[in-house]
Amino acid sequence: MAVSYKDLGLVNTREMFKRAIKGGYAIPAFNFNNLEQLQAIITASSELKSPVILQVSKGARNYANPTLLRYMAEGAVAYAKELGCAHPEIVLHLDHGDSFELCKSCVDMGFSSVMIDGSALPYEENIALTKKVVEYAHQFDVTVEAELGVLAGVEDEVASEVSHYTKPEEVVDFATRTGCDSLAISIGTSHGAYKFTPEQCTRDPKTGRLVPPPLAFDVLAEIEKQLPGFPIVLHGSSSVPQEYVDIINKFGGKLPNAVGIPEEQLRKASKSAVCKINIDSDSRLAYTAGVRETLAEHPDYFDPRQYGKVARNYMIDMYKHKITDVLGSENKLAE
Ligand SMILES: [Zn+2]
Repeated sequence: MAVSYKDLGLVNTREMFKRAIKGGYAIPAFNFNNLEQLQAIITASSELKSPVILQVSKGARNYANPTLLRYMAEGAVAYAKELGCAHPEIVLHLDHGDSFELCKSCVDMGFSSVMIDGSALPYEENIALTKKVVEYAHQFDVTVEAELGVLAGVEDEVASEVSHYTKPEEVVDFATRTGCDSLAISIGTSHGAYKFTPEQCTRDPKTGRLVPPPLAFDVLAEIEKQLPGFPIVLHGSSSVPQEYVDIINKFGGKLPNAVGIPEEQLRKASKSAVCKINIDSDSRLAYTAGVRETLAEHPDYFDPRQYGKVARNYMIDMYKHKITDVLGSENKLAE
C-alpha cells in the first residue's frame, strides 16, 4: 500500500532550498544505512536546529530493507521532536536513482525527494528519463534532483574514472525541459575516500599531506548566471578528515593517500546557489575509526553497543562540525 511522506511528518526540499539560497548556506545531505548513523544525524541536526536531508542510495535501501526504512524515517521525525524540535524539517531522499521504477517505488514508499541520475546517458535520454520521473513525482509533491555532468570516483553502484564538468550552456534547456527541482553538477568534486590520485595533488610542504586541485568555481559561477536562483547540488563532498584516517590506520586499517575536498572550498560553495551538499564517506570514516579504536583498545569487548557508542559519538561530532563550521545551516528551521 502506498504511503505519502506527508503522513510520516517529512517535508520535500522546495522551501528549505529557497531559504538556503537566499540565506547563503547549504542543507546537509547525509547518507545513512543503519541505526547508529540515523541516531547521530538526528541528534546533531536537532540539537543545532538544522534542516536535514536523510539520503539513501539504492544499495543502502536494500541493506536496510525498504519497509524498515520507511518506519526509521517516521521514527526520525518523532525522535527529532523528542529532542526539542517542535517542527523538524527532515527530507527522505533517494540518492542516485538509476531507473524510473526505483524512483516510483521510493515515491510510493514515503520518500519526499528522489534523485534520478541519468548523467551517464546521452543528453536527450537523460532529459526524457528525468522528465518521466518529474511527472510522476510531482503528482505527489515529491521533489526531484537531476544530474548533468559526470563525477569521478566510486559510490555504491555509481563509478566513473574521469569527471566531465557540467556544460553551463546546457543547464537552462535541461532544467526547463525536465522540470527538475534541483540540479547536481560536476565541478571537480568526486565520490569516495580517494577523490584524487597523488599525481593529481600537490603536497603541503609543512605536513606532507596531499592537497587536491581546487573546484571549478568559474563553471559554478557561469551556471549560476544561466540559472539564477536555481538550487544546485554538490555530490562527493566529503573532506576525508585526516584525524579519522589516522585513527583507522593506527589501529590496523589501511587507507593510504585518502583525500577529500578541503572544507574551505565547501564553505565558499555553500554561500553560492549550492544549497545541498552530500556527505557520505566522512560518516563511514568516523564510524570505522570509532569501531577500530575501541576494539583495538579493548580486545575483550564483544557487545556492539560498546563500540557502537564510540562510533556514534564520533559521527555526532563530525555532523555538528559540518553543520556549524562548513555548511552554515544551524538555527535555520522555519519555526
Ligand atoms: Zn553522489
